[in-house]
Amino acid sequence: MLIDTHAHLDFPEFEGEIDAVIARAAQAGVTRIITIGTSLESSRRAVALAERHPAIYAAIGIHPDAATQAQPGALDALRELAASPRVVAIGETGLDYYRRPETGAEAVKAAQASIFQGQLDLAVERSLNVIIHQRGDCWEDTLAILTPYHGKLRAVFHCFGGTPEAAATILEMGHLISFTGIVTFKNAPLMQASAAWVPDGSYMVETDCPYLSPVPLRGKRCEPAYTRLTAEKVASLRNQPLETVAQNTTATAEDFFRLAL
Ligand SMILES: [Zn+2]
Repeated sequence: MLIDTHAHLDFPEFEGEIDAVIARAAQAGVTRIITIGTSLESSRRAVALAERHPAIYAAIGIHPDAATQAQPGALDALRELAASPRVVAIGETGLDYYRRPETGAEAVKAAQASIFQGQLDLAVERSLNVIIHQRGDCWEDTLAILTPYHGKLRAVFHCFGGTPEAAATILEMGHLISFTGIVTFKNAPLMQASAAWVPDGSYMVETDCPYLSPVPLRGKRCEPAYTRLTAEKVASLRNQPLETVAQNTTATAEDFFRLAL
């Protein structure tokens, strides 16, 4: 039994197909899915999906790429959405310096930092944990913003692609990492080293679908059922049976998202 801890089921790629996607996931042993909001509108759709389907839970947040378009009242609107019992985390939020424009880069950075911080405050207020997106050269800035929240919330660094040393830094702060299908790619030796190294109870698995299909489906549209391929690869890297990885990552996700309460 696996949990896909990071899917974007509200994206147009899945329109009209949610029941079939859930059924294929269940057949692959992926019985629960966290669908992740990336903007206010996307978060609203995520909550609606979670309220309609028992297998789906929602995380609500504003992705750093949406930070500059976010309306002034966006955080208040998120706060209202967070009242739904189907909301199990805040995010995805964080920093992304990868797609930063050449002009106005400082203003974009400031907008990302401000809405990231606002979502961390909201998470503390609602006693929810946080899903962090960090991409590009923003590692130091992400840690600087997160550090004052030490002990007040836990975060998962989703789609983790760093070294075991970077993973250790995250774990020492009390946070988690999670692996996407990239861990199955030939050109991902650092991520594979981290997957082999990370202690049980400190990591989860995810798809980030519709993106990042694992091998042998790389390049195709990804969906939650493929969490199993990622878990199988992680199991082989760790020299553990799939069942052990499934039990450990499910228990970690149940605890992090408080699904079992
Ligand atoms: Zn995502």
